[in-house]
Amino acid sequence: MSGQHHFLLTPGPLALSDEVKAQMQFDMGSRDQSFKDITASVRERILDLIDGNGTHSVVPIQGSGTYGIEAALATFIGSTARPLVCINGIYGERILKILQLRGVQAASLRASSDEPLSVSEIAAHLDRDPAITHLCFVHCETTTGVINPLDAIVQLARQRGVRTVVDAMSSFGAVDISARRSGFDVLVTSSNKCIEGPPGVAFVIASLELLAGTGHPVNSFVLDVRDQWQSLEQNGEWRSTPPTHVIQACAKALEGLSAEGVIRRGERYGAVRDEIVRAIGRYAAPLLNVQARSPVCLALTARGLINTQKDFDALYLHLARYNLYIYSKLHPQTRSFRIGCIGAIRPAWILLLTTAFRDFFEGAGSVAKASAYPEPELIKEAL
Ligand SMILES: *Cc1c(COP(=O)(O)O)cnc(C)c1O
Repeated sequence: MSGQHHFLLTPGPLALSDEVKAQMQFDMGSRDQSFKDITASVRERILDLIDGNGTHSVVPIQGSGTYGIEAALATFIGSTARPLVCINGIYGERILKILQLRGVQAASLRASSDEPLSVSEIAAHLDRDPAITHLCFVHCETTTGVINPLDAIVQLARQRGVRTVVDAMSSFGAVDISARRSGFDVLVTSSNKCIEGPPGVAFVIASLELLAGTGHPVNSFVLDVRDQWQSLEQNGEWRSTPPTHVIQACAKALEGLSAEGVIRRGERYGAVRDEIVRAIGRYAAPLLNVQARSPVCLALTARGLINTQKDFDALYLHLARYNLYIYSKLHPQTRSFRIGCIGAIRPAWILLLTTAFRDFFEGAGSVAKASAYPEPELIKEAL
């Protein structure tokens, strides 16, 4: 047991509010009406937030966000389909990998990871390959925080009669998404990003037309979104044991999201992002230009000083001494590291981050020999 909260500056999992954490102490029967009601409230609230009443339905899938992605791909993209995966980061690569593992002949379109996907390049690819049946892409590519043009890509796909499967893991809750406006077919998110809930459940939001259709046989029990949906619609029950404590906390987190509103939450994160740029901008530069940056996380480079994972490990370990936890991996292509701007981040943590960066880059020890341990008082103040 660690006995102390990490100061999380990661794009999921994130720092939870005390009210959300408090909901995780109640044991509940998973097939009792009271738990079914909580499940129903979670599904309804997400549907409201995404403006999908009458057109879409929300299907929770046990597991991390990737489980939701794999479930959506397994259920809605059959082995004879020809999806095009548009990739500008590691989560786009992951979609392609999952499709390949499942034996789907997927095409791919790779673009630079420091720019949004280009709608005209996707259109040109669809012109060249008219057999494409589905477009798969990531809305906010958390690799760099770049935001891709969801509405324009979905609109293009709809004009061509191509289905869309969108990974909106890190954008839902902080970036306005409307099923009514964009008309996506399938979109996936999870509890532990901008919903500000604990990890353990993903949500597949699919059109009623696809859910009610017959589809192809899904060669998996746990990944069958349609079967889970039918169970929830028929008797309000998950097919196998749900994460009961996580769902209670997620319901509380969604209450908070509805109260705050997606736009205001995005502004709150954006203010944290800009504060981080001001705080450590002398030592590390934002990778993306301002228009491409999402409010979710900030990719930074310190070229000349941090070029390899080994260089970055020194910074990561240095920050951990201050109880500050940023994402632990350097993105090798862009040599960038990222800091999450989401969750219950306290101003004191940003102050501590400023001190920690200054100590690292200017400290007695210099970059090569990380500086002395921070004063324990400094951390206690930020707790
Ligand atoms: C976090 C994230 C995922 C994966 O979620 P896990 O919970 O780690 O499985 C997928 N796509 C994007 C864009 C993400 O940000």
